[in-house]
Amino acid sequence: MKIRDLPSPNHDARPDGSSIDSIVLHYTGMRSAREAIDRLRDPVAKVSSHYVVEEDGTVWRLVPEERRAWHAGVSVWREDTALNDRSVGIEIVNPGHEFGYRDFPVLQLVAACDLCLALLSRHPVPARNVVAHSDIAPDRKEDPGEKFDWEGLARNGVGLWPAGVPDLGTGGAVRDAASLRDVRAALSDIGYRVAAEGALDPALSSVLRAFQRHWRPEAVTGQADAGTLARLLAVARMCAA
Ligand SMILES: [Zn+2]
Repeated sequence: MKIRDLPSPNHDARPDGSSIDSIVLHYTGMRSAREAIDRLRDPVAKVSSHYVVEEDGTVWRLVPEERRAWHAGVSVWREDTALNDRSVGIEIVNPGHEFGYRDFPVLQLVAACDLCLALLSRHPVPARNVVAHSDIAPDRKEDPGEKFDWEGLARNGVGLWPAGVPDLGTGGAVRDAASLRDVRAALSDIGYRVAAEGALDPALSSVLRAFQRHWRPEAVTGQADAGTLARLLAVARMCAA
């Protein structure tokens, strides 16, 4: 694939001894690609990503992979809080939930998938470490969101998808402490940070929404309903394998 360079000054050294073992996918969440790329290259903004994928499939490299780009912010995945140290960040152009969230064009999805496959050929990234920004910061991020084709990516060898788990719908949401304990355990096994105990509080609801945006996009409810539980247990099983 053809990658064009558009350097950003917003990067620094990865810490000694850190190797790349994660990919974090984002959407740009701005009105236009131009506006987003300008911001990712603005020294005042102090944000960046390694790559930007436009809606027509054009791929820009802003930061070399061996350098640390500044895309994850305060985040955690599998108890790792230094996601920028060990990840490659990819911004996928889309106005996002704030400015008119729309379908990701096929050309863009193909380019994002090809880029991820190229990364996987260079770095040992486990499937469960291909994550959404919302997975690693569920209380403040929703990107790249439920319209992103995680299932299609996984079919092509990028990330995890529980094949053959039907959508059981939004009924049967569990709320009792014992069932929620299992929900929390499964989320934690996958990599989310969740408190061990308690009722369905806003924090757990945020994590459930992040899970749904990634693995149960049919209904982003923040509830542990039947459809969510089926997918959740299936993904947790894949992570345990
Ligand atoms: Zn993001």
